[in-house]
Amino acid sequence: MMNPLIDLRSDTVTRPTPAMLEMMFQAPVGDDVYEEDPTVRALENEAAARFGLEAGLFCPSGTMTNQIAIKAHTEPLSEVICEQTSHIYLWEVGGIAFHSGASVALLAGERGRVTAAQVEAAIRPVNVHYPTTSLISLENTHNRGGGSCYALSELEAIAEVSRRHGIPLHLDGARIFNALVATGQQATEYGRLFDTISVCLSKGLGAPVGSVLLGSKAFIQKTKRIRKVMGGGMRQAGYLAAAGLYALENNVNRLADDHRRARQLGEQLAQQSYVAEVLPVETNLVIFRLKPEMPAEKFLAQLEEQGIKASSFGPQMIRFVTHLDVDDEMITRIEDALSAF
Ligand SMILES: *Cc1c(COP(=O)(O)O)cnc(C)c1O
Repeated sequence: MMNPLIDLRSDTVTRPTPAMLEMMFQAPVGDDVYEEDPTVRALENEAAARFGLEAGLFCPSGTMTNQIAIKAHTEPLSEVICEQTSHIYLWEVGGIAFHSGASVALLAGERGRVTAAQVEAAIRPVNVHYPTTSLISLENTHNRGGGSCYALSELEAIAEVSRRHGIPLHLDGARIFNALVATGQQATEYGRLFDTISVCLSKGLGAPVGSVLLGSKAFIQKTKRIRKVMGGGMRQAGYLAAAGLYALENNVNRLADDHRRARQLGEQLAQQSYVAEVLPVETNLVIFRLKPEMPAEKFLAQLEEQGIKASSFGPQMIRFVTHLDVDDEMITRIEDALSAF
């Protein structure tokens, strides 16, 4: 039998398991635009409760939950503070300008993490020449930063700045469960510090579709019309929400296995003569730089010959992502391929 393809491009490539599909088939559903889908309601409430927040909004994607949150928090002629490699700025098609007519103040972080002092320095004084600072947005884990995690003390300091200036604080928590599992931090701490949180169900949690935006009841009520105008009002969406409920129930603690496998790959890569640098591996992302004698296209083509897919992540940079569909046997195959080049 042919060895199965190993896809390290992203944790979004996972397929639902038979048990997840079974729960989807069994889901009680209704029309969610009429707020009549019990499974969507159950997912929104369960996700909100985990973080100690009041309400949730189920959406097709994390881009949508982030962009809805930004739209609801800001107004035109205002500005969002975020890190310069954050997903909301780099990989959401310029949606902040398109949907919200807002400007961005970009901070240079350390592997995607910013400090309270940097955030405070970026807040605009009130002046006719300036946009008004309307939102601070953080990302944890940080994708471009190689799955890096914030220390709780830094988040507390940033939340203190946000409260003191009366500026809301949003979290792009596409991989927040990876951060929680890796650090042992509690979800409820995040609900206490952040006004709104976007959580992806289709990354490491293994659901086929969906993200949830969490916040206060009043905030989530406001976001329903924004989701509708973006075309994100879904009808019998409970079939999809059921996958999210299954994922929250069954696929959170196992993220530790993905992290262990990512660390193993990071250690193996660090020993290869053609690898210049491996970013510290904190969660399920492994980002590394190849030496000039190993062009990225050649490296990726050699991997592909062994049935392994990975992504290029900038000049000479490669990203490996471990997830539900990468097991220990596959890790051994990858290690064999890496040491054979
Ligand atoms: C994947 C991702 C998102 C959302 O992506 P979608 O593909 O729209 O679901 C948001 N933020 C980060 C950091 C991500 O990695």
